[in-house]
Amino acid sequence: MREASALKPVFNLTGTVLHTNLGRAQLCDAAIEAVTQTMRQPVTLEYALDEAGRGHRDRALAQLLCELTGAEDACIVNNNAAAVLLMLAALASGKGVIVSRGELVEIGGAFRIPDVMRQAGCQLIEVGTTNRTHLADYRHAITDDCSLLMKVHTSNYQIQGFTHAVDEAELVALAKEHALPLITDLGSGSLIDLAEQGLPAEPMPQSLIAAGVDLVSFSGDKLLGGPQAGIIIGKKALIDRLQQHPLKRALRVDKMTLAALEATLKLYRHPERLGDNLPTLRQLTRKAHDILQQAERLMPALETAYGDDFLVETAACSSQIGSGSLPVERLPSFAVTFTPRDGRGSSLNSLAQRWRQLPRPVIGRLQEGKLWLDLRCLDDESQFIRMLVP
Ligand SMILES: *Cc1c(COP(=O)(O)O)cnc(C)c1O
Repeated sequence: MREASALKPVFNLTGTVLHTNLGRAQLCDAAIEAVTQTMRQPVTLEYALDEAGRGHRDRALAQLLCELTGAEDACIVNNNAAAVLLMLAALASGKGVIVSRGELVEIGGAFRIPDVMRQAGCQLIEVGTTNRTHLADYRHAITDDCSLLMKVHTSNYQIQGFTHAVDEAELVALAKEHALPLITDLGSGSLIDLAEQGLPAEPMPQSLIAAGVDLVSFSGDKLLGGPQAGIIIGKKALIDRLQQHPLKRALRVDKMTLAALEATLKLYRHPERLGDNLPTLRQLTRKAHDILQQAERLMPALETAYGDDFLVETAACSSQIGSGSLPVERLPSFAVTFTPRDGRGSSLNSLAQRWRQLPRPVIGRLQEGKLWLDLRCLDDESQFIRMLVP
């Protein structure tokens, strides 16, 4: 028997599309091909053919990112956490960085803005309150020891009610007045207008660049739908400082990541075809009635196999985008649910356990005394049936 792989393919029927524990974005075919090529043959990773000498590893991608976002230059690192660390370390080490108290976020897996500040050797200068921060709060905090204004997108929570935040457009003027760079950690960020796709709106990196933000960072494997990477776009003079900082060497990405990211970004040149070519967008925009039809197609086989011990039903449910994106926004979806006829939680747990032991495990969600299989991300229907209905 072949030894089991540590990275086992599974069916992600949890209802969370960009599931961090299940590897976030599924890559597009073009990215998979590009990575394979890059692995098989030597490539011009840091070799400029025109000058027959040493080139710059991020150069080709920087050009593409500038074309797509209107930025002057770009820098690619291992993930967005690394991007934030690099921006802070290169531009504000030993200095103060002003951030609103409403934006001191924690992302899962120990990424917390105050801790990253400390790691980068910066002094965090908190302004405003949890729910309300005004332009005057930023203005009053600026001293000679400050070297940066920072915005952090509160991607995984929302403060509602009596609130006020200062957006980038307002902060740009203040930053200019004091000759301080303004940087934004956007977290997810989307290069297309998601509202046009019927999805909850998410800030777009190119809009922030157009508004005059100096550096914007975002993830490669969240809404962008590419490989794990941190992308920093913005002013050339600042990107140069990031590229020259010793941490960049430690945080740089490998050729496979660059190949996958380039292929993914190229799809954004044709936004009208993105829904067909980018798995993440395809999954996020799948219509509920299409998912219901799939559920109804699968029901008879599942009922035959499990009907004795479980009540098998289709049920409306809500999928989540995941990866800290817009947790309060839900996507209408459908699931097949399994309710134990003996009413025992142990029957439910053992069913979930059994499905986790399959050659391609099926991962659902336990909720309200049922096991839910949200079919939004079910790709290979016949393999799924082969797994569940032996
Ligand atoms: C997700 C996120 C991060 C971390 O990005 P990774 O690519 O997971 O390292 C940082 N900041 C914000 C606001 C995020 O949403």
